[in-house]
Amino acid sequence: MSQVNRREFIKMLGAVGVVSATSGLILPGSVMAGAKARVVVVGGGFGGATCANYLRQYDSSLDVTLIEPNTRFVTCPFSNTVLAGMRSINFITHNYDGLRKNRNINVIHDTVVSIDVAAKKLELKGGKILGYDRLVVSPGISFDWNEIEGSSEENSKIMPHAWKAGAQTLLLRKQLEAMKDGGKVIIASPRKPFRAPPAPYERASLIAYYLKKSKPSSKVLLVDSSGDSEELAMFRKGWEKLYKGMIEWVDGSEQGEIVSANVGALSLTGRTVGTLKGDVVNLIPPQRAGEIARVAGLVNKSGWCPVDQKNFASRLQKDIHVIGDACIADPMQKTGHSANTQGKICAAAIVTELNGGTMPEVIYSTSIYSLLSPKYALSSAGVYRLENGKLKRASGGLSDKKASRKTRLKEARFATGWYKGITMDMFGKT
Ligand SMILES: Cc1cc2nc3c(=O)[nH]c(=O)nc-3n(C[C@H](O)[C@H](O)[C@H](O)COP(=O)(O)OP(=O)(O)OC[C@H]3O[C@@H](n4cnc5c(N)ncnc54)[C@H](O)[C@@H]3O)c2cc1C
Repeated sequence: MSQVNRREFIKMLGAVGVVSATSGLILPGSVMAGAKARVVVVGGGFGGATCANYLRQYDSSLDVTLIEPNTRFVTCPFSNTVLAGMRSINFITHNYDGLRKNRNINVIHDTVVSIDVAAKKLELKGGKILGYDRLVVSPGISFDWNEIEGSSEENSKIMPHAWKAGAQTLLLRKQLEAMKDGGKVIIASPRKPFRAPPAPYERASLIAYYLKKSKPSSKVLLVDSSGDSEELAMFRKGWEKLYKGMIEWVDGSEQGEIVSANVGALSLTGRTVGTLKGDVVNLIPPQRAGEIARVAGLVNKSGWCPVDQKNFASRLQKDIHVIGDACIADPMQKTGHSANTQGKICAAAIVTELNGGTMPEVIYSTSIYSLLSPKYALSSAGVYRLENGKLKRASGGLSDKKASRKTRLKEARFATGWYKGITMDMFGKT
């Protein structure tokens, strides 16, 4: 292990929120003695950017390559504030300069089209072939267009999902701006598991915030495939205070689930909810792991990637790790913060394994803030540890149900602080 000794490495795990629970044993070995190990990371989002960054911090002798098609990454966290007109798209757009300049990572803007597991090689859309010793795959999600009749990538230009941030976020914002006062916005959330379970509630809140200011006779209808929950109750309490009568919640779980979409009529149909017509329709389709995970044989029949939760090694393919939304890390939710934590743990595990050591026991932590307005936010947190190879929740929960407006305001400020901190952390900004 070059530059960082065992004691410093364990100290670093603590410093980045991945806490060593035992003294652990990290033995310097193969990497120091032999050629540079090549670690390739696929996907420069919350999981991948963090993992590439921390691989280099934990072991600066590693040859780390990050492959990401986009030269700029637009985050889903805080994208609902762009829909509400509270923030510009620039606020949530980041480049890879920090990873290149501050961490010396080779960032290639291209798409991985195939992975040859036996030969430990991957092929890029641009034609390049890259070899690896370890591969980390963090491709996020893809959409299951077959589940809802009438939904498709093409039709998402009329009924945007805005569940991958960027052009879709701007399209939905444009539609909201163009809608007449008195219009109805339908948000249809997908069946679990999906990316960021509280985010449809945040979206309903912040769209209502915009409408209340600009088109006060308008309404939001949320068809919620997750059904009722303690978390929803907290949002509904906030909606009563901030947007009385503006947000209608419809139980879209189980039988209520949306089964077809008619883009011409701007309507959605569910078995029990019947046909619902909107002026703007935000249809968020069911999800599975990013497509390259399927192509590489990393998914099981659930559509997600089974991993050893200790080091995020794929249970299906050797020398490949899967992190972020794509992997099965229950009970951790599929969030950017979870992906960030997993990226660090995965990096630590790879460095440890390449150096012939034993990974110290670590604590996994995550949190998510949801804004209901610029001055009102809720949060939830989870702390997990491994028990018999399976993640178990150790503590955490929702923010105080009876919190005062002052506390909600504080949480809104913490949300911005969280966002600035995590994006600096993942992109190696100084
Ligand atoms: C509206 C909304 C709000 C949210 N708010 C929060 C929040 O407040 N807090 C929070 O913690 N989480 C939030 N999330 C969830 C968070 O965005 C995701 O959980 C997180 O992005 C997952 O990280 P990831 O690395 O798995 O995927 P991503 O961050 O999506 O990164 C995947 C990357 O892989 C790249 N990629 C895909 N395929 C390939 C390929 N074949 N070759 C090369 N690159 C590839 C993609 O271009 C992409 O950049 C929110 C999500 C939404 C939709």
